[in-house]
Amino acid sequence: MPELPEVETITQDLKKRLKGFIFVSIWSDWSKYFSLSGGLATVQRSIKNKKIIKIERRGKNILFYLSSGYMLAIHLKMTGHFLFNEPERKSFVHLIFNIKKGKKHLKLYFSDVRKFGRVIFGEKSKVLARPEIKKLGPDPLEITTRDFLQLIAKRKGKIKTVLLNQEFLAGVGNIYSDEALYMAKIHPLSLTEKIPDNNLKILFIKLVSVLERSIKLRGTTRQDYRDTSGKKGDYFNQRLVYARKGEKCKLCSSRIKTITAGSRTAHFCPKCQRIYR
Ligand SMILES: [Zn+2]
Repeated sequence: MPELPEVETITQDLKKRLKGFIFVSIWSDWSKYFSLSGGLATVQRSIKNKKIIKIERRGKNILFYLSSGYMLAIHLKMTGHFLFNEPERKSFVHLIFNIKKGKKHLKLYFSDVRKFGRVIFGEKSKVLARPEIKKLGPDPLEITTRDFLQLIAKRKGKIKTVLLNQEFLAGVGNIYSDEALYMAKIHPLSLTEKIPDNNLKILFIKLVSVLERSIKLRGTTRQDYRDTSGKKGDYFNQRLVYARKGEKCKLCSSRIKTITAGSRTAHFCPKCQRIYR
């Protein structure tokens, strides 16, 4: 699933290209995308002629600020991503935005093979008030180490599960929580309340550094994720533990293992990562 660096990469691409464009029409063969916004016909009607004022990322959501106080919020979920050119695998595209700026017409393709993407369109105040957006925690790239320590002091439980909770921090998912915990040498099942502050500090510093590094490499592609030009993200080749089950740890040569944390699979080194409980 695309996480903060992947969504940030796409958002930056969209920002560069789409400001000032006006919606002409929408095509979709998946009506479920519009179930939170009154249905496709309603969205078709009210998005027409709306201008893109601003685009920003919130957690794993892409927010399009539109004219007349409207907003379009898109969550890529498992397999969603935007493309500026018609992809070879047309059957993966279930949503197309036809937009224009002056005489320039563009199609923005939403490729989403699993069709889990989430679209919310409506008046900005209503979209922002929806629990999917409103409940999101702060962005890890916008808080300080001190903020992180204060926030985590309120969260008891397994560190891996806490990191994945979008109400705690928005944007962190399975890949970067695995990587940061490995870099900080903390076992994913450690209890937050038992981890010394100094180690939590290191964890936050590592988390920020791996997110920033991945943004530079334009994200991680294990399978579906692509940037808006259809290119894969390069962090996957440089990952330390994520999706490396059975491979050797780069520090101690032990085999990387997996363990279930909540409903997710964590990758870790059983020797390097200490459990606090
Ligand atoms: Zn190791």
